[in-house]
Amino acid sequence: MPARKRGFTLLAIGSTLLVTAGAVVTTPVARAATGCRVTYSVASQWPGGFGANVNVTNLGDPITSWNVQWTFAAGQTVAQAWNATVTQSGGTVSAANVGWNGALATNASTSFGFNGSWNNSANPVPTSFTLNGVACTGSTSGTTAAPATTRAATSAPVTTRAATSAPVTSRAATSRPPTSAAATTRPPVTNAPWNPPSNLTSALAAVWSHQESTYSNLYGFRNYGWDQVMAGQGTINYCVRWDSGASVTTAQRDAIHAALSKQFNKWMTAMSENGAGWNGWPYPQVNVKVVGWAVRDRAQLQWSDSSVDIYVNNIRENAPQCSEPCGRFFHQDGNYSGCPGGASRHYDMSLWLTAGMGGGAGGDWGQRMGSEYFMGALGSENIHIYLHEVGHTFGLDDFYDWDPGVGGFIMKAGSASQITEFDKWMLRDWWRHLKSRYGR
Ligand SMILES: [Zn+2]
Repeated sequence: MPARKRGFTLLAIGSTLLVTAGAVVTTPVARAATGCRVTYSVASQWPGGFGANVNVTNLGDPITSWNVQWTFAAGQTVAQAWNATVTQSGGTVSAANVGWNGALATNASTSFGFNGSWNNSANPVPTSFTLNGVACTGSTSGTTAAPATTRAATSAPVTTRAATSAPVTSRAATSRPPTSAAATTRPPVTNAPWNPPSNLTSALAAVWSHQESTYSNLYGFRNYGWDQVMAGQGTINYCVRWDSGASVTTAQRDAIHAALSKQFNKWMTAMSENGAGWNGWPYPQVNVKVVGWAVRDRAQLQWSDSSVDIYVNNIRENAPQCSEPCGRFFHQDGNYSGCPGGASRHYDMSLWLTAGMGGGAGGDWGQRMGSEYFMGALGSENIHIYLHEVGHTFGLDDFYDWDPGVGGFIMKAGSASQITEFDKWMLRDWWRHLKSRYGR
């Protein structure tokens, strides 16, 4: 087992920095009660980039539109936002509602998010926010204000480092604002044969319990690999984000396709029992297709056929990306009407290959790792970083901060180079807990 450096684990696993802002402000003359609370969290961070979520709660009278402002202290910039229209002038950022999320009743919340850049040195969270020009103190002020909430206004940010390990990116996490109790209610576990090897039973229970207590929206999140395979009826489409200056031959293209199919299906094999899907899983074999390539320069790709769609110089997060109208990440309603190649060329996830990158990242958006690593591992029986990251796509957690005590396994980074029996049963545990959402 070669050592590998997994120093940053990015989008999938990230620790979350939370800050709740506040500074006391009084409204001298007020007709309406105003008040707000803003929570800003850095959900993920990687060299040069980060993703953040912003949650806004209107504590005052109902409003029909909102504009949230803050100031970055360390030169951060917003590159791409969702669920808000974001503009930036110097360090001052202004985020306005989009068409459908402007109305906020009293005590209602909404979320938006963005990807941005940072200086690779410090990424401090903003310490104060305003909503429609009024400072967010976490309490209300104004003539008809309800009694102040118990949250004390603090001038210093309260920063906590919470181990939220949702296998999601900031974008996906916020594209569906957490709302109802349904998002947090554990669904019934029915018709579930649960017969892992007895020596793994208690560790598996500990893992599930740990996930339940640390994921922010475990049962409400709807873009796990499970959801994607079910939506594709057993097919997963990939976009390759080629973030490298190297050229790619036709043979390399085809070898990547073959490797993705083989490696992805190692997890599906873990869901197989006697040739059928375990416990009602309908796809013991998944058809993995590469439908698109994203590059900076078309000349890097040394083929001329049209077997994949090619997106040139569509740069997002400082890397080439396939067209967003084709991406499930951006269109979880399944509407790919804006995809140039049509719905059949939509992509469920991306294989994001970055020159010079060590380690990897994984989530509902796909998997990311070094282009040199992946190309060098194409002929390997187990592309272990990829396997680990696909585990995250299906919801599995990391084990940087605790050890269930079952030896090495793929999701414990650096401890195994292939999917183990423990990984298999962790995967199966996910299915038995989520299957009811598909009526199974
Ligand atoms: Zn990981």
